[in-house]
Formats: sequence, structure tokens, C-alpha cells
Amino acid sequence: MAREVRRRRTFAIISHPDAGKSTMTEALALHARMISEAGAIHGKAGRKSTVSDWMEMEKARGISVSSTALQFNYTPSGSPAAPPDDPDATYVINLVDTPGHADFSEDTYRVLTAVDAAVMLIDAAKGLEPQTLKLFQVCRHRGIPVITVINKWDRPGQTPLELIDEITERIGLIPTPLLLPVGIAGDFRGLLDRRTGEYVAFTRTAGGAKIAPEEIMDADAASAREGGEWESALEESELLSEMGQDHDQEMFLAGQTSPMIFASAMLNFGVRQLLEALVALAPAPSGRASVSGDVRVPTDPFSAVVFKVQAGMDTSHRDRLAFMRIVSGEFERGMVVTHAQTGKPFATKYAQAVFGRDRSTVDRAYPGDVVGLVNAMTLAPGDSLFTGPKVQFPPIPSFAPEHFSSLRATTADKYKQFRKGMDQLDSEGVVQVLRNDLRGDMAPVLAAVGPMQFEVVTARLKSEFNVDTVIEGLGYSLARRTDEASAAELNRQRGVEVFTRTDGALLALFSDKWRLQFVEKEHPELTLDPLVAAA
Ligand code: GDP
Repeated sequence: MAREVRRRRTFAIISHPDAGKSTMTEALALHARMISEAGAIHGKAGRKSTVSDWMEMEKARGISVSSTALQFNYTPSGSPAAPPDDPDATYVINLVDTPGHADFSEDTYRVLTAVDAAVMLIDAAKGLEPQTLKLFQVCRHRGIPVITVINKWDRPGQTPLELIDEITERIGLIPTPLLLPVGIAGDFRGLLDRRTGEYVAFTRTAGGAKIAPEEIMDADAASAREGGEWESALEESELLSEMGQDHDQEMFLAGQTSPMIFASAMLNFGVRQLLEALVALAPAPSGRASVSGDVRVPTDPFSAVVFKVQAGMDTSHRDRLAFMRIVSGEFERGMVVTHAQTGKPFATKYAQAVFGRDRSTVDRAYPGDVVGLVNAMTLAPGDSLFTGPKVQFPPIPSFAPEHFSSLRATTADKYKQFRKGMDQLDSEGVVQVLRNDLRGDMAPVLAAVGPMQFEVVTARLKSEFNVDTVIEGLGYSLARRTDEASAAELNRQRGVEVFTRTDGALLALFSDKWRLQFVEKEHPELTLDPLVAAA
């Protein structure tokens, strides 16, 4: 058991759309020999769909709405990054997929509760972009250590030091490059391994479809081969060492520094180095505190957290999958676990690993692994499952919504389906659903972090429940948490309306921040608390 835990790494890639997350995912799968050629998964000239895309909307927009997990084994090649005490170990890597679009950051937030580390993927030419920043803040908030990968080094971009400065200055994270590129952005020849002083020279393969052959040489050979390019990489490395920017495991785990790698996901350069860094440096699964404050450690009896619920992934078998991350103990398919929220038993007869359209049965799993439970009608994001002594993990906080719309079925006779569909989407956490007596059940208000969440609601009500709906904008732009005592007075105010969210919370919506300030000033006695904003 301890060995299974020790050899597991569970991480997510955080990046701005187009930084190369799908390409990198595929490159990792290639290096782990899950696939023999890049392009096998996406199989296309352009990049319209990828392994993790499954919904029509995803295909149309080329974005990933769902979150699933890819598991692969990886055996380090015995490079200096391999742990010295266990050089032959095969590691089990869980890559949990995150939606790419900013509008689904709430989903991404939930995914980040299921991982132990993150890879921050940055486009060498673009540097830090808004979505990367937002997701990085979530990692910081949760104390998730971050490995930084500068991608697309085969294309013109900034210099290593410019990128390092930008990250240090804008987010206060100190990059400690493990490897520095030899050759400027656009002329990617190889990597200087700062820990060994060796040179890793890459050879391109046709279309980057195969693992790029590597040649490892010492400094003299590197200097003879690359001349000035090698010397400048050495100078950069020395400069960084003088500034104290060498890898420090404790500071990395504390979220103060970030090991950095330069790569080209498309050419498969630097991908092995990323895998080696993950196994050598990223933390193995560890314990998780429960609401009562005790910590469930990986060797304890089985426990898991549901971080994602998804229905309609496969229209031919209408089903509902709950994805759980195992926190402790061994999972065996068929075991009966307890659902902490209801106290009811849950039989895990149908357990699957899901990535994109591929599904396979999971018979056994360990802490750090992600398992999809089929027909999990009662499970919701944040729920806990366990065997043995009861454990309930803290709920996943929801994002503060910024977009509010009312939703209405355009055909009056579809009440039942509408209700059923809304309950379904609500329990999955696709959007937050707000109701009040004035508007009634058929006209709930949807609250979202990004407006694209509304589109998912209308698209899924149509495709899965056959209900046509329209979204109508409301004149509200911010929400505060309030209480029963304040509700009546708030409802009397112009530009304010009080709603009950499905979880029971009372939310007051305001037309704008001036209205809120006005009400706060006129009625200091009212409860108006900011909602949790994760980013
Ligand atoms: P995602 O939106 O983050 O998943 O990005 P994709 O993996 O779909 O990549 C976006 C675009 O960048 C695609 O056209 C890729 O072919 C391209 N791309 C990804 N990685 C690299 C790279 O290392 N070098 C170059 N030149 N292009 C890349």
C-alpha cells in the first residue's frame, strides 16, 4: 500500500487556451508509450478535437468542457532526476484534465481540489496570460506546488530571463530552472541540465510524431558543438545561481519557488524532462483534513472526494458519472462504501476510468487515482465516500458568480422535463440555480462565473431533456450572502432582489456596486457578506 502511494503522482496542467495543453498531454502519453505516435489521439491536420473533447459544443468551439483523467505508467530512464532510493520504480501518473476556457473556471477549481501538483504551461512568446494567472491564484490559495513549463520554444519568443522576471514580478513565484534552453526561442537545439552540467541535444522527428532522440554530452562536447549558444546558456545558469535561483525542494513544496523547464510539446522536446521532474519532485498523495479536523492519511481505510459530476457524456447510454479522487485506502470495484452526506451505502459495481471517449473498467485503485462511478445519482461535487470510521471532507467552495440570467422554457407543457433537467444540471454544479417565490419554479435565475455556462445549460436541456429554453439577461451584476432577517428590507430596495440558492444560502443580487454601496450605507444593520471568490 505504502509503495502504491509512493509511486503515484496526480497533477493537472493549468494554462491559457492555445498554450499547448492538449499537445503536451499527447506528448506525455507518447513518452509514457501509451500511444506510439502523436496525432493518434487527435488524428487531424488542424486541432479541432482532442482526446478530452466529447461534447458537440466542445467540438464546435475546440474547447474542453469536461474534466476527466488520464492514467499512465512511467519508468524514469535512470537520469539524475530519478529518486536514488528507487531507481527502477515505475510510477503511476494521473493527469487530471481541466477545461480550457475561462468561463469554466469553477470546474477547474473543483479539479484542482483533486490534484497534488500543477504544471503551469506558458507560451514562450506570450508569457503569463489571464487564465494562467487566475488558475495560478487557485493553486496558491490551495497550496498546490507548481512546476513551470515554457512551451513552444521552437518558435520565436522572449528570452529565458525575461520570462523568469515576468513570473517573479507579476505573481511573486520564483522560477528555479532545472534545465535551460540551448539556442534562442525559435532555434531550439537542446537543454542544459543545470544539476549535472550536461547537455541534452535533441533531434527532430518528422512532424514531431515520435519521441525526439536525445544525445547526452558533457560540457566540452556541448561547447564544441554549439559554441556561443552553449556559452550563453551557461552564463544564464551562473547568473541564476548567483541570484539563488537553484531548485530547493522545501521552497517548491511551500509554493515559493517553481522548478522550470523549457519545452516544445509539438516537437516532443523537454517532455521526458517534465516527466522526470514530476516523479522526482512533485509530491506523492498525502493526507487530507476532514471537517472535524482529523487527517485521513493514505494508508487509512478507504475514503474519497467527489470533485466532478457529469451526465450526458455518452448519449447512447444516458448516464451520470461522478468522478472521485481517492484520498486513502484501496478501492476495489464492487465494494460498498458509505456516502457521508446521506449516510447511505453506495455500491461501486460500475467503476470506470474515463478519458475523452475512452472508458475502461477499473477494478482496483489507490490514493491519488481518479475513478468514475456510473449512475451515481445521489453524489454531488464535494461529497465524501468512505469505509471504516466515518470521514467527511470539507465542501468545495463555490466561486462568486458574476453573471446572472433568467431561464425560461419556451414551451409551457414541458414542465416536468424542465424541472428534471434543471435538477440534474444543478446537482452537477453546471451553474448555480437561484429561486424566489416571485419568479416561481419555471423561471429560475442562473448564476455563473462565465456566460458560456449558460450556453451549456440551454444546449444540454435541449439535447438531453428535449426542452427549448431561452436565456434572458437580468440587470444584476453582483451577489452578496444575506440572511432571513435582512431579506424583507433588501427586497424593498430598488435594484435588489433576494434569492435562495439550492444549497439553502440566501443571496441578494445587486444591479451594480453603487447600488450595493448605497444600501450598505443606508442600512448598516443588514447582513451583506461577500461570497467566496477563489481567484
Ligand atoms: P491548448 O488550447 O492549450 O490545448 O493548445 P493546443 O495543444 O491545442 O495547441 C494550440 C496550438 O499551438 C496548436 O496549433 C498546436 O499545434 C500549437 N502548439 C502546441 N505546442 C506547440 C509547440 O511546442 N510548438 C509550436 N510551434 N506549436 C505548438
